[in-house]
Amino acid sequence: MQRKPRRKAETKMSRAKKNLSLLLSFVLVLGLFGCVAEVPPSEEPKPDPALKGVLSEVEQQAVLTSTYAGQLEVKTLSRQNGNTVMGVHYPVTGMTAADADILAYVNERIASFDTYILSAGEKDFRMLSLDFSVSAYDDYTSVTFNEVRFYGENAREAVTICRTYGADGTRLTPEELFIKGKRAKVPGMFGVESFPEGVSFRVTEEAVTVMLETGDVSLKREEIEKICLAYSARDLDPDGKMIAITYDDGPSSANTGRLLDGLKERGVLATFFMVGTNVSYYPKLVRRIAEEGHCLGNHSYDHPQFTKIGAEKSVEQVEKTSKLIEDACGKRPLFVRPPYGSTNEEVRQALEYTLILWSVDPEDWKYRDVDTVREHIVDGAHDGAIVLVHDIHSTSVEGSLAAIDILLEEGYQFVTVEELFLHRDVEPVFAKHWYSVK
Ligand code: ZN
Repeated sequence: MQRKPRRKAETKMSRAKKNLSLLLSFVLVLGLFGCVAEVPPSEEPKPDPALKGVLSEVEQQAVLTSTYAGQLEVKTLSRQNGNTVMGVHYPVTGMTAADADILAYVNERIASFDTYILSAGEKDFRMLSLDFSVSAYDDYTSVTFNEVRFYGENAREAVTICRTYGADGTRLTPEELFIKGKRAKVPGMFGVESFPEGVSFRVTEEAVTVMLETGDVSLKREEIEKICLAYSARDLDPDGKMIAITYDDGPSSANTGRLLDGLKERGVLATFFMVGTNVSYYPKLVRRIAEEGHCLGNHSYDHPQFTKIGAEKSVEQVEKTSKLIEDACGKRPLFVRPPYGSTNEEVRQALEYTLILWSVDPEDWKYRDVDTVREHIVDGAHDGAIVLVHDIHSTSVEGSLAAIDILLEEGYQFVTVEELFLHRDVEPVFAKHWYSVK
């Protein structure tokens, strides 16, 4: 079984949200009667103007606001009117669009319950309970509403819906979790031809679950990662030209910072094949590379020729460097570039990594000249190319940035090596040399 590059775009916020979701799942079932009783007697119960509802003679109504983990505000509405009881809980996420959507749903459910009561006349005990739980992963927040109604002694109705929101609070469709080029395939992944309008689905750290009429269908994260990145992936044109620029032998205190500035200015992501010794000298640069979204690569500890040192020592070189990179930025590199592009079958089998070589070599280490480096890169560029540059030479930094400007004009999309595999739907298998991905 090949080890897949794991995408771990975990932010502080998403970790906090995750803890929160656990907490909420368990804590949030406030007893209906408990809610009513919790209203302090000195405080005049007042309706929340945001919550509609036509229940006329309310004997007791209260809106409580509480918070969990100091982050997510929870609103609780409870009412009691003769034989009618209502307890509604809903979250306030702080994302305007999501909160409007949640409130609209809550109001719709209350109105629907009120309509029933008004039409039913005096009857037995009636109760509405609307509860929720929240799960979050990466930039997604899913709110699941569990609604139960009791009419009389025996009639019970339950409704569960789930809505998922993106980082900006926009409500998403299941297709929108996946990168553009893969969206047509999404219903098929869940075993249907298409999703019904407004289908409920949930994102957790482990899986994406779509609630279909025939039952819930979950796709585990590993299965999803095989097919596509999540919603937070960059919106690239899957049919457009792509090129991956890679930088070897750094990070370099003199040049890598300047290169990162230049890439950022241009909105370009690259892949950095770093040498362990430099990683240990400049861990802050490694952290910056990771934080700015570039792809991490491993270029051995001190640049030996793998064919000379043999499989066992090559594995040691790579493992030591991966550990240093992980210590510096919290992420393990996904790819290895063997020094001098040199391996043999024994080394390839021993290294459990995808081995990335190159299809464009401007020989920047030899020509230390900005114009030559630029020209060589531009002349060699092709769709699916992997370009080799060294960010330890200032001429390579300037030359490659100049080449990027020209190639951007020509319509190239600069992608990381990881993105290149992903968008080209190619499995980055081990034990072979990858020169380009078409
Ligand atoms: Zn090198």
